Amino acid sequence: MASIDLSYFARGDISSSFKKEVSEVLNDCYGRFAKKVPYKIEIYAFDTESNLASFLREEKFKLGLSFNTVDDASACTYEVLRGYPRLLLCQERLLKYSKQARAGAMRHEAAHTILHGALEYSIFQIPEDCRHTATIKGIENEKLEEVFFQLSLGVKDFEATRFLIQHDFINCQFHYAMEWIKPAEDDKTAWTIARTNRQTRFIYESALIRPILFADPLLSLPKTKKTPVETQLQLSVRMEQMIALLGEAEENKVLKVAGSIIEVLGEDTHSNIDAAFHQLMGLI
Ligand SMILES: [Zn+2]
Repeated sequence: MASIDLSYFARGDISSSFKKEVSEVLNDCYGRFAKKVPYKIEIYAFDTESNLASFLREEKFKLGLSFNTVDDASACTYEVLRGYPRLLLCQERLLKYSKQARAGAMRHEAAHTILHGALEYSIFQIPEDCRHTATIKGIENEKLEEVFFQLSLGVKDFEATRFLIQHDFINCQFHYAMEWIKPAEDDKTAWTIARTNRQTRFIYESALIRPILFADPLLSLPKTKKTPVETQLQLSVRMEQMIALLGEAEENKVLKVAGSIIEVLGEDTHSNIDAAFHQLMGLI
């Protein structure tokens, strides 16, 4: 491994088996990422969701930040508030996953720390012409910001999955996807309410783009020995179920926009987010 400084910190009641599992998965994974690793990465393990949440709140407060920089809702996440990546793991949430999916989740965040491990990957601007289009179509600014933030996470997820596949982390990514991409029980009710209004419909449909982007590199894998074909099929059925409740016309629209987003994604995160957001306007 290059001269990487991988430091571990435990907050709260972290079991020794969890500690061991985390360091095994991450030492191996950063080793395989080899020279792409930033010089310094800190890894924090929190015992509970609330300890992780209060850590994030305090950090943002200390740095005077109020904007969204991290996806607070996952079992693990990462942030770059101090200019170098910090990977934040929540023992309580991770233990709800299977061992394979846990490894998948940790590697997913590790991939983010490699690809998006600098502050510039937390700061994006809505393209002015998109803002203009959205305003004309009656989308409030605040809602547009939220949709834009979610889309930026989706694009970064796509890049992370693609990167992990390139490093041969395939099975764990299928396991992770199957465990976090699940239709919620109240999705149908939420959609029934959302569909009646242009803005809420736009927000609902945009939220579906993130799992689609996360899963696309997995679903696009050719049927070789390395691809768990059965799980691949299950995942594609899962995605279909999630989108099918929209009804045929809206479903087709979402799939078309998702496809056009995937088509414009290249290597550069900033141009990817910009191009993807232009395509997302097709949902309004
Ligand atoms: Zn992610």
